[in-house]
Amino acid sequence: MSGGFKEMEYDAIVVGAGPAGLMAARKIAAKGFSVLVLEKEKDLGTRACAEAVSASAFETAEIPPSPPLISNNISGAYVFPPDETKGVKISGGSYRGYILNKQQFLYALASRAVSAGSDLWMRCEVKGVKMEGGVARSLVYFKKGESKEITFKYLVGADGVGSVVARSCGFDLSGFEIIPTIQYVMVNCGVPENDLIRIYMGKEVAPLGYVWIFAKNEYIANVGIGVRGAPAKPYLDKFIASHPEVFEKAKVVKEGGGGVPVSGQVREIVKGNVALCGDAAGQVIPITGGGIRTSMEAGSIAGDCIADALEAGEISTLKRYTTAYGEYWGTRISRSLKVLRVLEKLSDDDLNLLGSIMSGDDIVDLANGLDVKRVVEKLSRHPVLAMRMASKLL
Ligand SMILES: Cc1cc2nc3c(=O)[nH]c(=O)nc-3n(C[C@H](O)[C@H](O)[C@H](O)COP(=O)(O)OP(=O)(O)OC[C@H]3O[C@@H](n4cnc5c(N)ncnc54)[C@H](O)[C@@H]3O)c2cc1C
Repeated sequence: MSGGFKEMEYDAIVVGAGPAGLMAARKIAAKGFSVLVLEKEKDLGTRACAEAVSASAFETAEIPPSPPLISNNISGAYVFPPDETKGVKISGGSYRGYILNKQQFLYALASRAVSAGSDLWMRCEVKGVKMEGGVARSLVYFKKGESKEITFKYLVGADGVGSVVARSCGFDLSGFEIIPTIQYVMVNCGVPENDLIRIYMGKEVAPLGYVWIFAKNEYIANVGIGVRGAPAKPYLDKFIASHPEVFEKAKVVKEGGGGVPVSGQVREIVKGNVALCGDAAGQVIPITGGGIRTSMEAGSIAGDCIADALEAGEISTLKRYTTAYGEYWGTRISRSLKVLRVLEKLSDDDLNLLGSIMSGDDIVDLANGLDVKRVVEKLSRHPVLAMRMASKLL
């Protein structure tokens, strides 16, 4: 690894212009420090995403929800166990959410970061980080085939799954696991009640994962699958073929996919003057695969901590990011992971049983690592699920 020439030093460099990186950059710039975001792609939001967020994601983004950023208003969900007749409807005031227009949403986050004073360079792929005495000092990136080196005081690895920053800086990524996904953007689907997202589970449908149908509007839907231990595409195609009521007249206009971390947060998210945020740090709710809001929260907290560390002139101040994120978000992620580990051992019959006794609130609390204790108390009163699930979740 060798740099061509040296550029100016920034107070902080953020690798990756996703939800995590753009929030981190905004927070650092807002406190008056120089910050640069390096993004390898030529546009924002090129990665596949089902684009579902809870309404509170806009609070985290500190941006008001507005039409260009939103494709569809969501008022709830249908969750289907293997026996689809046992589908559970989740709806009501607190389940409000959106299917984003994620690219526009990222443009809005980028706009806020840039207006706060952040630099943003596209088509700059970071290849590695140089360390000196355990501290990250510079990184090498490629722009138009040319290698360049740039120095910084603090570094944010918000470069998603397969993070170069995490690997170069020697973060402990043991146990990091992703679920591979495939997503089609489909036109002319007949999605009933298209303000409800639809989730399908079961070993025949999506082994150790689920299928989603998220309508973006009356014309277009994100239809995808995550599975483990089996190829995703045949399962998605089979699902589509077996649901003619939705897909008979539909066509695929775009195919994408990618890995989603499902093993919880990595062991360390701070190493000296480097913070890992978002998918790079495994900060995704394992059951739902939702990572937009959790990543923005991470970027926001890490950005604030870096600004504090710069103000204090003290690298150890950055350690506060670990505790500040862990208190709420880390706890939710680890609770959801615990539930996932139990769910993945259940048979389809168990899932059907679960579907028949769970309420919408129960599903939301379990999946999102919210009030798991309340649901466990309910399950422990059931003769079969007490043994299969509740005892393992205590
Ligand atoms: C198919 C699919 C569906 C999903 N659906 C949902 C959903 O409905 N709701 C939800 O909340 N979450 C969803 N997620 C997860 C969500 O997309 C991520 O958790 C979230 O985007 C993570 O944000 P991030 O900023 O950490 O990383 P990313 O969004 O991955 O951004 C990382 C950025 O870093 C850039 N980058 C990577 N390497 C380098 C490098 N070496 N140099 C420079 N730049 C680099 C990338 O190009 C990218 O722009 C889905 C994911 C997938 C794959």
